[in-house]
Amino acid sequence: MLGQEHILNALRDAHRRNTVHHSYLFVGPDGLGQEEVSLWFAQMVNCDTADDAPCGVCHPCRLIAAGNHPDFTWIRPDEKTKRGRVTIEQTRHIRWLVSGVPTLARRRVIVMTAAEQMMPEAAGSLLKTLEEPPEHSTLILIARNVTDVLPTILSRCQVQRFLPVPTEVVTSFLMERGVGEAEAAKLAALCDGRPPEAERLRNEPDLLAGRDVTLDWLEDLSRAGLGDALLMAERLRTTSDEMPGELESRLHWITLWYRDVMAAQSAGIEAVLYHPDRAESIAGAARLYPEGFPSSAIQAVGKARRYLSGNGNATLVTEDLVMNLIPAGGRP
Ligand SMILES: [Zn+2]
Repeated sequence: MLGQEHILNALRDAHRRNTVHHSYLFVGPDGLGQEEVSLWFAQMVNCDTADDAPCGVCHPCRLIAAGNHPDFTWIRPDEKTKRGRVTIEQTRHIRWLVSGVPTLARRRVIVMTAAEQMMPEAAGSLLKTLEEPPEHSTLILIARNVTDVLPTILSRCQVQRFLPVPTEVVTSFLMERGVGEAEAAKLAALCDGRPPEAERLRNEPDLLAGRDVTLDWLEDLSRAGLGDALLMAERLRTTSDEMPGELESRLHWITLWYRDVMAAQSAGIEAVLYHPDRAESIAGAARLYPEGFPSSAIQAVGKARRYLSGNGNATLVTEDLVMNLIPAGGRP
């Protein structure tokens, strides 16, 4: 929850003054601690021992942390049957939950983790719930952007904005936890303002190994012509086959690399990079690629990620992608 103290303070104040809202919208890029803050909030308003910060050890605090509290509910998009959408069955379930008094809790808390994925009829049903705010319940909606949420729903929520955390703040946070300075700076640069991601990179060395392989691949790609595209696509795909989620993670590293190339094109050696350890090859690519190319590459990667998350064919998607990552005219 590092860097989101403004939200913790606002929620704590509301709790102290007995003005907790019946619906919050947590807005911001993924991975800034939205779920952790939701859980913290549910614990705070139901903790048996502490007034304005959850103790973490009383009965309600422990039940909530373990996911076993009858009045604390996660609503996640239905990945299996509805392609990752929040369904009307789920929002009807929310309506049913809030219609009764809580079983154990002082305040029932329901958290919807991807509110922008609500199907239209689900949003309609949720709106009815929000129009008659339930007395003993708080609903937390998590979404990436305010504009992803229907205006009618937005107008009934109090918005709390999650902010990316400055690199130097993450660096000192990691150093306080015993990470060496160089390693801390590297993890902080790579986490893109998301401290939990820095922790994850620190705890899973495979992820950083995947980054190195991906950057080597990008350096080779900058020397490749269109004739090499299919081979390069195969290399990207097959080396990531063994680990689930690895291709997605590689596409993330690729995005950051092109952002670096773009930064190097506009700011030269002054550019602040995600991959400072590859500054030399990034500067090379900045000279090599036409202006505007890195931003169209980033768009192409974004498109590939969307196709893959919708279960698109990985072979076709990576082949398409690599064609778009080699400038027209091929090898310079
Ligand atoms: Zn407690």
